[in-house]
Amino acid sequence: MKVLVLNSGSSSIKYQLFRIDDWQALALGLVARIGEPEGEIKLSWRDDADATQARQESLPIPSHEQGIERIIRALRDTGVLTDVTELAAIGHRVVHGGVRFKQPALIDDTVIAAIRAVAPLAPLHNPGHLAGIEAVRAHFPGVPAVAVFDTAFHQTMPPEAYRYAIPETLYTEHQIRRYGFHGTSHQYVAKRAALWLDTPLAQCNLITLHLGNGASATAIRAGQCVDTSMGLTPLEGLVMGTRSGDIDPAVVIYLCKHLGLNADGLDRLFNRQSGLLGLCGVNDMREIDRLAAAGDERAELAIAMTTHRLKKYIGAYYAELGWVDALVFTGGIGENAVEIRRRACAGLERLGIVLDDARNAETHAHGERDISAAISDVRVLVIPTNEELEIAQQALRTVTGTTE
Ligand code: ADP
Repeated sequence: MKVLVLNSGSSSIKYQLFRIDDWQALALGLVARIGEPEGEIKLSWRDDADATQARQESLPIPSHEQGIERIIRALRDTGVLTDVTELAAIGHRVVHGGVRFKQPALIDDTVIAAIRAVAPLAPLHNPGHLAGIEAVRAHFPGVPAVAVFDTAFHQTMPPEAYRYAIPETLYTEHQIRRYGFHGTSHQYVAKRAALWLDTPLAQCNLITLHLGNGASATAIRAGQCVDTSMGLTPLEGLVMGTRSGDIDPAVVIYLCKHLGLNADGLDRLFNRQSGLLGLCGVNDMREIDRLAAAGDERAELAIAMTTHRLKKYIGAYYAELGWVDALVFTGGIGENAVEIRRRACAGLERLGIVLDDARNAETHAHGERDISAAISDVRVLVIPTNEELEIAQQALRTVTGTTE
């Protein structure tokens, strides 16, 4: 049997197919430009000889429903899926589950209504997820579908971590609080870290750093999230590719009063034009590394601000947790950016965080690895994230009613 994982956006659907026996990823791909005159479907898969094959087709894909149908057809054509009856579950990634979803949920009318109800908190994501969920229901009503929420893992945060110090009614009447995101990734790397430490997750204190285009840090006590850097939306916290992260809210007031920015202008400024891009004109960390090495001062500042903010969060979460078993780096930057890891950990020796410079600098190393020195009290781990696998496994557990 197999599990299909879908990540539906407003005009695209990313997908990945897993075989349950060994959790091998059999195929992955993307349907893009749904609703445009010319859409596209991409698929890569492992053939019988275990070689990677790829194909791509351009054609109009008018709706999410037809996108889903195309995905199933492409998987069938290439032989990785014989029929939908082979699917034990379909797992849908859903960015925002509000306070309601602390666990993945088997999708029914009530769950769909609840995802719709929190859509104002994730206007860029939840409507696209709903289109994918509805399309699957309409087309394959017999396959159990599960929603897996980016926010769910953070629902264990205590109020002192999730509330904002603003009037209470904004929380009670408008649900304005911190939710946190990237939960599936933090949860996945936390589990892998526990295996690496050979300690039950319920006994592990961890700081997990998911550093991709979006970036967030999470404090995990005894296996549960107690704090995370993203807030009501994914804008809060670390310096990101195009997002500012933490900022004095009075900057917003100033921009409204003196530069005449409205809500859309502010949204664009803080979500799309800020972060690394706003600081040095580039949001790709590889390019920023090259520019900084060539003496570009703006690129150097972008790196310095990224690592300064990271260090602040590591320190804050260390203080919250009291003791830390491991610091875990993941995401495109966390897994690959040697200099970011080095500078984020520099000077933390008194906290028991000591990198092995040579191990940290192994640029061709892949897979899970320990980059801390033998004398380091805190293990520093690099663990490639795999959100799709985590969604697939959570979806199957939800359908079969099993626990880990
Ligand atoms: P997303 O959040 O879009 O999934 P990723 O997790 O793929 O993003 O991370 C993208 C970031 O990772 C980019 O800034 C990219 O430059 C950075 N990155 C990828 N490989 C390297 C590398 N070898 N060195 C430094 N940065 C890297």
